[in-house]
Amino acid sequence: MAMRLPSWQIGYALGIPIRVHASWFLVFFLVTWTLATGYLPDSLPGLSPGRYWAMGGMAAVLLFLSVLLHELGHSYVALRYSIPIDRITLFIFGGVAHMRKEAPTPRAEFLIAAAGPAVSVLLGAACLGFVELAEPMQQQRGLRGLVILSALLGAVNVQLGLFNLIPGFPLDGGRVLRAGLWAWGKDFYRATKQASIVGLGFGAGFVLLGVMMVVGSAMGGIPVSMASTGSWIVLIGAFLFAAALASRRQAAMRQTLAAVPLRNLMVTTVVTIPAQCTLEEAVNRYFQPYGYGGFPVLDDERLVGLITVHDIQAVSPAAWPWRQVGQVMRQAGPSLIVEPDTPVIQVMEHMVREGWDRLVVMQDGKVVGLVTHSAIVHFLQLRQATSR
Ligand SMILES: [Zn+2]
Repeated sequence: MAMRLPSWQIGYALGIPIRVHASWFLVFFLVTWTLATGYLPDSLPGLSPGRYWAMGGMAAVLLFLSVLLHELGHSYVALRYSIPIDRITLFIFGGVAHMRKEAPTPRAEFLIAAAGPAVSVLLGAACLGFVELAEPMQQQRGLRGLVILSALLGAVNVQLGLFNLIPGFPLDGGRVLRAGLWAWGKDFYRATKQASIVGLGFGAGFVLLGVMMVVGSAMGGIPVSMASTGSWIVLIGAFLFAAALASRRQAAMRQTLAAVPLRNLMVTTVVTIPAQCTLEEAVNRYFQPYGYGGFPVLDDERLVGLITVHDIQAVSPAAWPWRQVGQVMRQAGPSLIVEPDTPVIQVMEHMVREGWDRLVVMQDGKVVGLVTHSAIVHFLQLRQATSR
């Protein structure tokens, strides 16, 4: 949905690129507008419209910083567990820290998940504490503005922390729940699926609640102003529902791939190319007749590399008659080889990590098969088709 809009990098924090998604500007405008035209004139009368807009804009920036600090809380703990973070993105429903891998243990998962809400609640408490201290002295006009902003920011941060503690995955509270279920049942994927079901429940519940508020205000049972809150709750509920559904599907997929050994989906009739073969021979005798994207290369029965269509395309066709496969191929190394009993999920992670889209399967020093990324994708599609 909205995620297809562009985003812009605005800087770094903890070495992590910070990006702002286009949808976030809508929030920025809405917050500034709501404060400048309603909340601020009500609670701090007698100022010029310009002042209200400036204060509203400042509050929106502080809100932005609050969400960023929440994500940095997650990120700081994740980095301590050596989990790389690609970027932090702020968008219409808050922020996301994109972690490159899952937490290594339930304990790590718990601490990473809890750090964000902890930052928000502490920040909120600090703001509200300041309000308590400064309230008796707020006769000075400058201080009064500060007290009002601080009260607002305190409330928002406490809400941000508490909302995220709702135990529906993928909210932070859902991650805490997953950590508990994972520690309890010793099964990461099952824990993810269970926590996602709770997420589905909360998502559906919010949608229902929001719809009831909208309908209720239309029929006159509750104030009309509740209609906009209601629609906002519908949106958040729908977003949570969709995210929980996607998490559940992904966990089911990974669970399948973790249970299947590579042996079950590798190609066993492997065609190999001798290293001395010229590129012209390789094209005419292997690539064209078989139609495969790549072949393992052997030198005297020994695996020495892998050659793909892309490697050949990189060489000018004029040179094909005299360049040898062994000169153009990617050299074999431990990163190219997997064993037939490896779970497919690990094979897939191996491919992503090492940048190969096909791997050679070896057992006892002999080539016994070949596996490609697209073969794994096809396998999954067939599995999904048969499980329906
Ligand atoms: Zn969070």
